[in-house]
Amino acid sequence: MTSNPGPPRTVQPGRIRVLKAGSNPNGPVVYWMFRDQRVRDNWALIHAVDEANKRNAPIAVAFNLFESFKGANARHYGFMLRGLKNLQASLYNSLNIPFFLFQGDVIEMIPNFLVECGASLLVTDFTPLREIRGFKDEICKRVGDSVSVHEVDAHNVVPIWEASSKLEYGARTIRSKINKLLPTYLIDFPTLQPPSRRWASSPPAIDWDQLIEDRLKKGAGVPEIGWCEPGETAALEVLKGSQNGFLTKRLKNYSTDRNNPLKPRALSGLSPYLHFGQISAQRCAFEARNVRKVAPEAVDAFWEELIVRRELADNFCYYQPHYDSLMGAWEWARKTLMDHAADKREHLYTREQLEKAQTADPLWNASQLEMVHLGKMHGFMRMYWAKKILEWTSGPEEALAIAIYLNDKYEIDGRDPSGYVGCMWSICGVHDQGWRERPVFGKIRYMNYAGCKRKFDVDGYIAYVKKLVVETKKRKAETEIPSGRKEKEPRC
Ligand code: FAD
Repeated sequence: MTSNPGPPRTVQPGRIRVLKAGSNPNGPVVYWMFRDQRVRDNWALIHAVDEANKRNAPIAVAFNLFESFKGANARHYGFMLRGLKNLQASLYNSLNIPFFLFQGDVIEMIPNFLVECGASLLVTDFTPLREIRGFKDEICKRVGDSVSVHEVDAHNVVPIWEASSKLEYGARTIRSKINKLLPTYLIDFPTLQPPSRRWASSPPAIDWDQLIEDRLKKGAGVPEIGWCEPGETAALEVLKGSQNGFLTKRLKNYSTDRNNPLKPRALSGLSPYLHFGQISAQRCAFEARNVRKVAPEAVDAFWEELIVRRELADNFCYYQPHYDSLMGAWEWARKTLMDHAADKREHLYTREQLEKAQTADPLWNASQLEMVHLGKMHGFMRMYWAKKILEWTSGPEEALAIAIYLNDKYEIDGRDPSGYVGCMWSICGVHDQGWRERPVFGKIRYMNYAGCKRKFDVDGYIAYVKKLVVETKKRKAETEIPSGRKEKEPRC
């Protein structure tokens, strides 16, 4: 009889990359957390604890709060800091691991902390985005010879460098590579035990309420959202809660209704949590597999988005340095866009007009307002929204810059590889194919109002957003308290 081996006790070697090998095998371990902001199901944390135990040394988690990271505002900072506040408590209560919060220049803060505590190993999260990659390179240069640096891909189901060693052309080229590796990587997580050694000193106390208040004030131009409770516990509730969880209550409609902007609840609603790393994509995929027999089509469609499309976006940003500019488009797309750059546009709008939803298209305006007020535009509308920006601005470069600017500013899940690739797909044909040539778009796939009208109740969506905006404004006026959290708004 063969026994089930159960979850592995340590992290698979393919998840870890040694960025720097240091000479000291014995000092404390520091996990610099940034993309995977969770205690549960976090391979980077698991690896850091494993290494600390091997070294018979203590471990601490460090987080550096940037003055302003990629234009983050109250919407982003509120969600993130409230999640981190919960994380600090659960890290300490369940694992006895201290959480150090730094604010300042990360390339000084982290190396200084390593020196201060005599660390032998720095474990970091993986991200394909250039800013953090640059900081990481600099940190590797600055830490002493004794310190090792390990990078762990805890964000993707299949680690990005294992899935593919090159820039993939599209979903069809990466899908089979990912699928082949799922039996290896789509596994359950071990239960993390408190590390064998405790950190000697206590971290400085964090006044979370004050910190949150300060950040909310600074970024007040884009207020917090109230419909999406931050934190790991809330994330799991959205995934599989008994009340209204995606897998427990809403899964069946995913395959049929996910492209209907009037049915936002047909989508999982997980993107805010995935973006901030408050839930593991591997946990989502694993739990979905457990219920596949209930709704196989829905689970397959969900996997396609959650694993293939999301990890394809990371692949693009990792292997294409120009992931957010026209230079990152394929040759055919750049050519066709430039061939049509001077085509006459029916409308030309400035960034300000677009931001204020002042176009002649009520459907587009509704999607823009959904993003501004709700903080999450429906996935189907995101494509239409970005394509229209191409149609109404002076050229593809301007269109892309405006789309990314607005997406990053207002989407709660913005500033993410999936956002850059979503805009690149819509405007520059990345991961898509050439279509029948037409003015302005060239061979880039076109979408129009009439097509939307055939697909869903456009007027219903416009009315739905109008109501949502009125309600959001009203609730904001009613529930805003001078400092701190607004009262919880109901989920839409
Ligand atoms: P679900 O359909 O429930 O999907 C589950 C998860 O799969 C998502 O949370 C996401 O992680 C992943 N996913 C779904 N669709 C895609 C996709 N097309 N590409 C990559 N991953 C996907 N996604 C973001 O996370 N952040 C963004 O800033 C972002 N901006 C976009 C901009 C444009 C112009 C476009 C066309 C797409 C963008 N997307 C973005 C992708 C997608 O629209 C969102 O991930 C999705 O709408 C999030 O809602 P959900 O979690 O309820 O989706």
